[in-house]
Amino acid sequence: MTTGQAAQLLVAEVTYRKDYTEDIFVLRLKTNHPYAFKAGQYCTLGIGEVERAYSIVSAPDEKEIELIIELVHNGEMTPLMHKLKVGDKMSCRPRAKGIFTLDEKLKNHVMLATVTGVAPYISILRYYNTHPKEGHNFYVFYGGSYADELVYHKEFSDMAMKMPNLKYFATISRPTEERNKGWNGYKGRVNVLADLTVPSWQLDAKTTMFYACGHPGMIENVKEKFKARGYQVKEERFWKE
Ligand SMILES: Cc1cc2nc3c(=O)[nH]c(=O)nc-3n(C[C@H](O)[C@H](O)[C@H](O)COP(=O)(O)OP(=O)(O)OC[C@H]3O[C@@H](n4cnc5c(N)ncnc54)[C@H](O)[C@@H]3O)c2cc1C
Repeated sequence: MTTGQAAQLLVAEVTYRKDYTEDIFVLRLKTNHPYAFKAGQYCTLGIGEVERAYSIVSAPDEKEIELIIELVHNGEMTPLMHKLKVGDKMSCRPRAKGIFTLDEKLKNHVMLATVTGVAPYISILRYYNTHPKEGHNFYVFYGGSYADELVYHKEFSDMAMKMPNLKYFATISRPTEERNKGWNGYKGRVNVLADLTVPSWQLDAKTTMFYACGHPGMIENVKEKFKARGYQVKEERFWKE
């Protein structure tokens, strides 16, 4: 980054933090200048010299940037973020980026997420709810190893009660573990669940977009399965395997 670019960095102050598991936490940030983005885009945050991309959970007209972060124990950035408290500051590049946004021209939107990969879908659906349009159907598949990692499960469940055009499926891949005791939803990997479920709806490939966000293995599997059936697949890959 040049000095000129560095001068334009925003200051993003932590206003809220909630830990959901030992590794998964939600932050809200307030920037010192207005920060514009489209639902589904990501911001680039920094602490010292380290910068990483984070998909934005909040809708564009919310006052703060909401994020869901997974601590990567051998990582550079997330151990620093995991130490953040309310009042601490990060840098934020002034422009949001990304094309993992809603393709409004299409009718059907099948969205698959693993754990933190849920961020862009919450942003898209929060925004859609306050700026509703006609003729879109949403099918959200949200998966993790453990139920307590599904931070936005209640928000999606509540949305699905109110939105007749939203079908919502949550699944956990380690159902026999003690930590998942009491889970009475779907079991297995999110891509497998989608593969078993979506074909029965016979969605027309010409009017349907698949979105896959999070774990690179899940993304590869979705592309392999659904591109072969003629569907378009948009992806947001959080890391390389
Ligand atoms: C467009 C985009 C949006 C993103 N949005 C989010 C988000 O909303 N929330 C979020 O937590 N992360 C998100 N990420 C990932 C984020 O940018 C960092 O890569 C991640 O937080 C790890 O950073 P780190 O510096 O701690 O680890 P690094 O030092 O970058 O990585 C250490 C090692 O861990 C691997 N790794 C990185 N992330 C993971 C992971 N989650 N699980 C397992 N292995 C991993 C890396 O490939 C590397 O081998 C996004 C990435 C991209 C490209």
